[in-house]
Amino acid sequence: MSSHGNGAAWITVNTSGRLSVPPEPRIGFIEGDGTGPDIWRATRIVLEGAVEKAYGTDRKIHWQELLAGEKALKETGEWLPEETLRGIERCVVAIKGPLTTPVGGGIRSLNVTLRQVLDLYACVRPVRYYAGMPSPMKHPERVNMVVFRENTEDVYAGIEWPAGSDEAIRIARFLKESFGVDLPEESAVGIKPMSRLRTERLVRRAVRYALDRGLPSVTLVHKGNIMKFTEGAFREWGYALASREFADRTVSESEVYETHGGKPPAGRIVVKDRIADAMFQQALLRPEEYHVLATPNLNGDYLSDALAAQVGGLGMAPGANIGDRCALFEATHGTAPKYAGLDKVNPGSLILSGVMLLQHIGWNEAADCVERALQRTVSDKVVTYDLARQMEGAREVKCSEFAHAVVERM
Ligand code: NAD
Repeated sequence: MSSHGNGAAWITVNTSGRLSVPPEPRIGFIEGDGTGPDIWRATRIVLEGAVEKAYGTDRKIHWQELLAGEKALKETGEWLPEETLRGIERCVVAIKGPLTTPVGGGIRSLNVTLRQVLDLYACVRPVRYYAGMPSPMKHPERVNMVVFRENTEDVYAGIEWPAGSDEAIRIARFLKESFGVDLPEESAVGIKPMSRLRTERLVRRAVRYALDRGLPSVTLVHKGNIMKFTEGAFREWGYALASREFADRTVSESEVYETHGGKPPAGRIVVKDRIADAMFQQALLRPEEYHVLATPNLNGDYLSDALAAQVGGLGMAPGANIGDRCALFEATHGTAPKYAGLDKVNPGSLILSGVMLLQHIGWNEAADCVERALQRTVSDKVVTYDLARQMEGAREVKCSEFAHAVVERM
């Protein structure tokens, strides 16, 4: 990694996960494959514009390029060099464009590998509406939620075996002999692990997020009515963590009704839970009652994309994968390879991931500046092709022109 600029310094993180951010931090970036370089260029223009607008010459980001994907393969012979993983840890905070998933070869998915190796256990997806965005809802503006999806466990842990494999047959035999459980013949088998420790660190992060931002509630979303000892435990552990570690800052929904006459005491956030299928209904019918959602992996996967669709689609949905040591902010869509290098696609998702990054390092003035300017740009109907074709009277601009249009509105 090269560093440039005199005042450049590293961000550090203490044992409780709090960051210490110098005025000129080094922040890592992976530009990504396909349309990645286009949307990264646009994002960088917008983020630098906002930092300058908000802080003049007092603060500045020193970008550190980290190689991954096709560019890394070309330059180093590896899809995901060790140096990149160490670089993300050193920077503590990094942003990435989408990466091609290599077909064949030893590596399953670069994104999955990044999450696992860096233990980025919380997938954080804020979902809010920008006025003027095309949406299938009557009142998309009522949706303003942040999903905290557990990123390492559940049926996504990758512990599964195909039907007829030696492993699946042995597990079926073990279940039969030890517990008298009969699996149908030729069953594929997958394991759904859910642990107290990993549930707690996810819920802790969700509660802290709500407290830091003064949000009114955290909802545990689970299928504990059916999967009592996995999803049901997620619910129990979540409530227990909130009342143990945040005793004077949280109150459970049942306590609100049983002891506080239906009104939460001032300064406390309400911790509640919803069964996942009911949560999908609530997201459509009463979205304004939900603020932060904490949920196991599979529920969270479905919920984040469904919520994104309610407010206008994945083209503008940002995301981050966050752990105790470091955080990686990213576009939620893929590489859109057919538009690579055409300066055409929507950089909104990566720009808004940049907003999350700015919030994560506490540069809220710059984050607000981007959000306001992006809102003005969309309200002025200056948008890329994907939105232009759904909006009447829109002016279609290129990816880079969109970035400049946002900066002009800061
Ligand atoms: P994709 O998201 O690249 O494309 C799906 C559709 O959305 C396409 O029609 C595409 O043109 C459109 N689209 C995507 N991003 C857009 C943008 N910013 N603006 C406008 N339109 C946009 O998904 P895919 O085709 O399934 O995957 C392509 C590659 O990306 C694959 O190699 C896949 O593995 C990879 N991928 C990476 C990530 C990631 O890095 N986080 C996520 C998903 C897919």
